[in-house]
Amino acid sequence: MTTQAKAAICRGHDHPFTIENVELDDLRPDELLVRIVATGICHTDLAVRDEQLPVPLPVVLGHEGAGIVERVGSAVTRAKPGDKVIMSFNSCGTCPSCEIKAPTYCYNFFPYNWSGTRPDGSPVMFQSGEKMNAHFFGQSSFATHSIAHELNVVRVPDDAADLPLERLAPLGCGLMTGAGAVLRSMEVRAGLPLVVVGAGTVGIAAIMAGKIAGANPIIAVDMHDSRLDLARELGATHAFNARDDAMGKIKALCPLGVAYAFDTTGISSVIEGLFEILSSKGKLGLVGASAPDAMLEFNESSLMGGGKTIMGILGGDSDVNDFIVELIRYHQDGRFPFDRLISYFEFDQINEAIAASESGEVVKPVLRVNAA
Ligand SMILES: [Zn+2]
Ligand SMILES: [Zn+2]
Repeated sequence: MTTQAKAAICRGHDHPFTIENVELDDLRPDELLVRIVATGICHTDLAVRDEQLPVPLPVVLGHEGAGIVERVGSAVTRAKPGDKVIMSFNSCGTCPSCEIKAPTYCYNFFPYNWSGTRPDGSPVMFQSGEKMNAHFFGQSSFATHSIAHELNVVRVPDDAADLPLERLAPLGCGLMTGAGAVLRSMEVRAGLPLVVVGAGTVGIAAIMAGKIAGANPIIAVDMHDSRLDLARELGATHAFNARDDAMGKIKALCPLGVAYAFDTTGISSVIEGLFEILSSKGKLGLVGASAPDAMLEFNESSLMGGGKTIMGILGGDSDVNDFIVELIRYHQDGRFPFDRLISYFEFDQINEAIAASESGEVVKPVLRVNAA
């Protein structure tokens, strides 16, 4: 049975998103139909709009959806109709990365998340009978309804059912990435210094997680004072404006170097500067998107002699289900107050929400799509 839905269609950088009627395909055995309650907007959506990623246009984007399950395929065990779910990225479940619970590095990431179709090439969405590109991150949540998968839905635990789904929506990407980078990828230890460059959603999630891990000091660097103020409120012990000799101030504060440096900017000179201030056994985590041809230069003696680690990080090394539930627990305990980052918009304000995100006026825009 096909499903009638409305979806925000992206036709590229020079076009506003337009909300139009679409149809969703019948469910396969491992798929779920989710009525979207809310969805976050993330920089990756805008990178696709701007054709920086190999996703075919026009397309229905959105990859931080949360909603209520309406129907499930015969093989789905993770959720049932009526359950509240958060959606994240999709994965194959069987490749060498998926085997070791590292699905963010799924060998089949492209066909499962970015091809515009199911991995077998079949479309999940149509418009007036014509195939539409959708199924972005196995969801395309800029829509009233979404076809998701057994492996990319997280059922909201019963004891968290009172938390509004519109608040939980962004857990599936940016928040998971920043918190996971600290708690999972870099495994930040208590009592050691952490520097986070870029106080957007990912950076502030890393700062909140640094506080959970007991890092000290926790140093935020950004170019916007308003974001530095928020970073301070949410866990940073120090906040330096990048325009005002931030690196010099970090060196003065941490003369032995920093144990953990986390870059969300993707700017080569920033990353190389962070490498310079790493302590022995220091770890440098990278999540920023750089230009495709960007290269980095490090001193080999310092890397080897200091036992340093430079790590690329996708999705905070999350195994999706366990980690999102863990983050909900921290939130319930008051230790992960990510709701402070969110500004809400109605679904038909999607273009205004994107503009507010790009201007830096809001940190994390969330669209309200359907009533809960
Ligand atoms: Zn994202
Ligand atoms: Zn895989």
